[in-house]
Amino acid sequence: MFEDSVVTRLWTGGEWLEGPVCLPDGDVLFSDIPNDRVLRWSPDGGVRVELQPCGHANGHTLDREGRLVRCEHGRRRVSRVEADGTVHGLVDRYDGKRLNSPNDVVVRSDGTIWFTDPPYGILSDREGHKADSELGEHYVFRLDPATGELTIVTDAVEDPNGLAFSPDETILYVSDTSGARLGDAGNPHIVAFDVAGSARLERARVFAVIEPGLADGFRVDPDGNLYSSSAAGLIVYAPQGEELGRTPVPEVPSTCVFDATGARLYVTASSSLYAVDL
Ligand code: MG
Repeated sequence: MFEDSVVTRLWTGGEWLEGPVCLPDGDVLFSDIPNDRVLRWSPDGGVRVELQPCGHANGHTLDREGRLVRCEHGRRRVSRVEADGTVHGLVDRYDGKRLNSPNDVVVRSDGTIWFTDPPYGILSDREGHKADSELGEHYVFRLDPATGELTIVTDAVEDPNGLAFSPDETILYVSDTSGARLGDAGNPHIVAFDVAGSARLERARVFAVIEPGLADGFRVDPDGNLYSSSAAGLIVYAPQGEELGRTPVPEVPSTCVFDATGARLYVTASSSLYAVDL
């Protein structure tokens, strides 16, 4: 069934697209990381530059109040766009040390912000600014925006990249894309954790090994099925990890996001934005 999804290219002209988020008005924001810009696609077909420079933005999501939350490689921080449009840096350090380059972000129903911090934005000047890691590790963090408290929730993923909760938020999925950086010494898989209480992760296990390619980013539908990027397009996994099907995409996808109906995925894939109608 996933093989029969209708794939439509909506726009092309980016260099490396990432971080799509669907806004309440139906527009889609997405990042073109090497070009240091955030683009905005509208259902009428138009695409315009929303923000440039943008701190080499990568992942986006909306918080419970509908505000945009953004990962910025360039400023090595997570920021939030307030209702009046002003940008407010939320966090850029842990224990006095600069973050590496926040990559992807989700907001839990309690308002806490969970994000990954791999090194991709500091490895070169292409997706940020080349620099040494001050932390020396690649963590997944939980930020309580009400108190500013920043907590490491795991150091068990070599290069944490995409992340998503299960519908009931009892499982957190985190992809490891260290295969891109370390070759055979790295991992091309998605790790699942049990969420204990509201802030602790337990029982790490490999949920799916991506073949071919990597799971840069992914989303979970209301039934708990996980839609991941790979070098073969989108791969759909059932909640227990078995593969349900694949939807080829003409370019290698990075991440996807559901629209409000849940029947369409917007997919950022290399130089283009695609719609996948399931
Ligand atoms: Mg990513």
